[in-house]
Amino acid sequence: MNTPILIDAHEDLAWNMLTFGRDYKLSAAEIRKQEAGSLAPQVNGDTLLGWPDYQLGRVAVVFSTLFAAPSRRKLGDWDQQCYNDYEEAHLRYSLQLDAYQHLTEQHPAMFRKIISRADLQAVLEGWQNADSDEHPVGLVILMEGAEGIRQPTEVEQWYERGVRIIGLAWAGTRFCGGTREPGGLTPDGYALLETMAEYNLTLDLSHMDELAALQALDSYPGPVIASHANALALLKGSGSNRHLTDRVIERLRDRNGTIGIVSANNFLKPGWKDSGGRAGVTLDYFVAQVDYICQLAGDAKHVGIGSDFDGGFGIQSVPAEIDTIADLRKIIPILSQKGYTEADISAILGGNWLAHLQNTLPEGV
Ligand SMILES: [Zn+2]
Repeated sequence: MNTPILIDAHEDLAWNMLTFGRDYKLSAAEIRKQEAGSLAPQVNGDTLLGWPDYQLGRVAVVFSTLFAAPSRRKLGDWDQQCYNDYEEAHLRYSLQLDAYQHLTEQHPAMFRKIISRADLQAVLEGWQNADSDEHPVGLVILMEGAEGIRQPTEVEQWYERGVRIIGLAWAGTRFCGGTREPGGLTPDGYALLETMAEYNLTLDLSHMDELAALQALDSYPGPVIASHANALALLKGSGSNRHLTDRVIERLRDRNGTIGIVSANNFLKPGWKDSGGRAGVTLDYFVAQVDYICQLAGDAKHVGIGSDFDGGFGIQSVPAEIDTIADLRKIIPILSQKGYTEADISAILGGNWLAHLQNTLPEGV
């Protein structure tokens, strides 16, 4: 069985396009060749992504982010996409959104923006066409860290421009506590959630501190996911508030949410560099995360893939079997060996994210 489509719920494509000039129309191998000896592989690793690799891996839909770090957490002197205040964050996100707009307008045979169920359907039909082995990849726009929303009334403009998922945090924001910056929802955070609910926007809990995530689960009536986050229970000793507690996982399940498992070695096996290196991290660790969520949830309906590939790491920091995103399909036999049925496996690969999109996107024309 290798036909089910794959959906990846987290890739910082625009950030890479604007920071390093990565051209994702090319294959990962071609991009690596182009970048040899340059800054990109030094600071972000060798790329794992590219359109031909999406084709090989049957990656039909990618949740594509708007992402910039606050200046206090600047990734390096080379990081030109950080922001000092929300005006600047607004500009960064806006330019990244333009980049997706250009990519999809200029290369519709390769990339399509998905803002409605009709768009989703069109992309899926492309993948069902057995006569062609060239299928457009659908991009769902996800704002990672909401600092670029200058005031809640602006949600409407972002929505009109195609944003369908918003995460309130990366580091902490004025809306809530985030990674390495704990804290709950602020009054601004509650106000933003209230406006987001009017548009039925999906709330992404990834990066939110546990307190903020639980408060959001209590107060947000709209759809809720964690696009890229792993279970803390398997990462004891990581000392990070970036991972999901059992409480948050259970609450997400109760809300019919889905969790995308990250395929970065430090999210799979803390301390991996000193204990066997890359060779010591296999896809079994990734599948263990998937399985943990399924066991806790009681079914296979609440977990998917949120690779975060190229999000601060490349081939040097992913499980040994992975050369490009196409290799994520290698989890299929591992899941099967663990007793997962074909239906479960296709749900985990993409079906659960697909159901989420079908349940939450506006109808469209
Ligand atoms: Zn992230």
